[in-house]
Amino acid sequence: MIDEQLVPRGIHDLKTLEAMRTVPRHLFVEDAMKDQAYGDFPLPIGRGQTISQPYIVALMTQALNLKGHESVLEIGTGSGYQAAILSQICAKVYTIERIDSLLVQARKVFDSLHYLNILTKLDDGTNGWPEYAPYDAIIVTAGGPKVPEPLLGQLADPGTLVIPVGDRGVQDLRRVTKREGQITEKNIEFVRFVSLVGDHGWESG
Ligand code: SAH
Repeated sequence: MIDEQLVPRGIHDLKTLEAMRTVPRHLFVEDAMKDQAYGDFPLPIGRGQTISQPYIVALMTQALNLKGHESVLEIGTGSGYQAAILSQICAKVYTIERIDSLLVQARKVFDSLHYLNILTKLDDGTNGWPEYAPYDAIIVTAGGPKVPEPLLGQLADPGTLVIPVGDRGVQDLRRVTKREGQITEKNIEFVRFVSLVGDHGWESG
């Protein structure tokens, strides 16, 4: 996975590569799909949702440019794989999921791996998690029509937010940076994510 899918496509951040090497991805997919867990594609995780392709997880993680001390907010826990990768690179991960059964399963895996620096919450993540704000980095792993305003408000200064923004089919993976009160945006590449559903996202799945 590392040598064939990540490094040749420009994943060079050592912390990202090390985390991708360490976290057992097969534990985050259903039993019937374990033999495909390290394939170069997303996989279904139930309830119409997916675990992202390894390359996309690595690309988004690298885009956050984490050094180790950060607190990171994730919207869209899903299988928990992205949160697990982040937990190996930063101090604390706060992750929000709107579908209960997915969150319950993800928590089981976090517990079994003793990933103790991940806090989870069942909610609409487009409103963020004000209690622990500001966050050094925010990662949204579902595609929305725009950058949710509350997330910009809960982003630290300096801070980095990565989110797929576009229509229901295709999105731009966007890196939004806050520095001295100024917001700058940069498109990374085209991606396909499931829908971000909520107050500051799409109306339904
Ligand atoms: N990061 C996940 C990707 C899961 S797919 C992983 O590594 O597996 C995206 C997830 O976002 C889905 O589980 C979906 O239910 C969730 N989601 C969509 N809109 C949401 C919202 N407003 N708040 C929280 N989670 C949301």
